[in-house]
Amino acid sequence: MSKISLQHVYKSFQKDSYVINDISLEIFDDEFLVLVGPSGSGKTTTLRMIAGLEEMTKGNLYIDNKIQNDEDPSTRKLSFVFQNYALLPNLTVYENIEFGLLNKQMSPLEKKKTVEDTAKKLSLYEKLNSYPNQLSGGQRQRVALARALVDQSSLVLFDEPLSNLDAVLREEMRTELIALQKMFGMTCIYVTHDQIEAMAMASRIVLMMEGKIVQVGTPYQMYHDPMHLDVATFMGSPESNVLSIEHKDGLLYTKGSKIIYNQEVMKLMKKQKLEKGYMAIRPKDLSVHHQQTGERIPGTLVAVEHYGLNKLLHMEALGQTFRAVVDRDFEEKKQVYLDFKGHALLFNENKNRVLETVKTEIVINQQPKDYEYIQVINELKNYGYRIAYNEKNADLIIDEKNSTFIYFQGKKEIQLKDLKDVFTYVHYLKTCLTDKEINYTKSSRNDE
Ligand code: ADP
Ligand code: MG
Repeated sequence: MSKISLQHVYKSFQKDSYVINDISLEIFDDEFLVLVGPSGSGKTTTLRMIAGLEEMTKGNLYIDNKIQNDEDPSTRKLSFVFQNYALLPNLTVYENIEFGLLNKQMSPLEKKKTVEDTAKKLSLYEKLNSYPNQLSGGQRQRVALARALVDQSSLVLFDEPLSNLDAVLREEMRTELIALQKMFGMTCIYVTHDQIEAMAMASRIVLMMEGKIVQVGTPYQMYHDPMHLDVATFMGSPESNVLSIEHKDGLLYTKGSKIIYNQEVMKLMKKQKLEKGYMAIRPKDLSVHHQQTGERIPGTLVAVEHYGLNKLLHMEALGQTFRAVVDRDFEEKKQVYLDFKGHALLFNENKNRVLETVKTEIVINQQPKDYEYIQVINELKNYGYRIAYNEKNADLIIDEKNSTFIYFQGKKEIQLKDLKDVFTYVHYLKTCLTDKEINYTKSSRNDE
């Protein structure tokens, strides 16, 4: 149990250049939050500021509603697991784990029990008398985890803890870590550059680029509802195909002359009066054929990767590369024909998502004073919403007396008791704001 709030946080190592540039983020009790992003995007720096290993240049940090800016970082009850987990080679597993209790006031008997209990939970009990060099890579990693978890911190920070492990072990450890998090009931902030790891582990994902948050959401939301082109290309494997497109006289063009037919995108561009933009197509939505029909774009099949039932095709067409996942056989170096009519996401010239309804704005009845409501509003912005305040026509009503949000879906009213509820429901606001009735509860609960 531990919750964290970062509010307008900046960090610069050199004058006039921010490596963290205005980050606001809410981390809930007991969640497994993953910070993901390319190398150099500021993930480690963010984690180190939360730990107090790095000072913030500007901004506020709260842990469990208590401002930390002027507190001694050693009072923060947290553990940090690094990529290079250095076990002490001359100490046994028992002694290595006990090391995590160095600053704890405990009787020797209590200490022994705590170490043994933790070792049991991590399946290390039989290894307590072994030395690190007698352990496998996975066991060593578990000892490092045990050392971090033994003092029962309610907040554990991980910085790419699995990136030194081989692929099989990495997948095993992912599952184990998630199980441990549930068992210990702790809040985890986990840094990785690997989006597959992020998708597999996170309750929520924060995608960072160049010191900023691009988007926050559940794995499901990040994949199915990217609000920015960078999210669409970063999340999901294999990577999405991106085409820059122009809309003229009811036709779509890319690179000047070639014509693509995609009714979904064309309709949306027309409706939003958009002339230029980007279209992102997941490899599973790009269909590839042996025959031309007149509408298809010719391309060359450069390489085929076999994954059992499915194959990943790498193709060249329109002067760029494309990826498609198919279940039919194709021969390399042969001419193929690409069909862009499948499901695609549309982004405008600024790479922001274009949706059927322009209303990605949430109207709230009043400017909140309460700290918790301000947190929610910061977080809504991370989800890609613009916020407006207006007593009439509000989508969300803050009821400070009863500490609830009331949220309107059409004429239906839903009371949200918990901060987390807001994000389960609010993702669907923009869809709900159209006249469409959608069944959101089920899918949103299932993907958590
Ligand atoms: P990530 O963990 O996402 O790879 P980091 O937080 O390590 O990114 O780094 C973000 C940026 O800050 C990078 O450009 C990095 O070079 C810079 N940086 C990190 N630590 C320092 C430091 N101690 N001094 C100067 N620059 C730093
Ligand atoms: Mg890093």
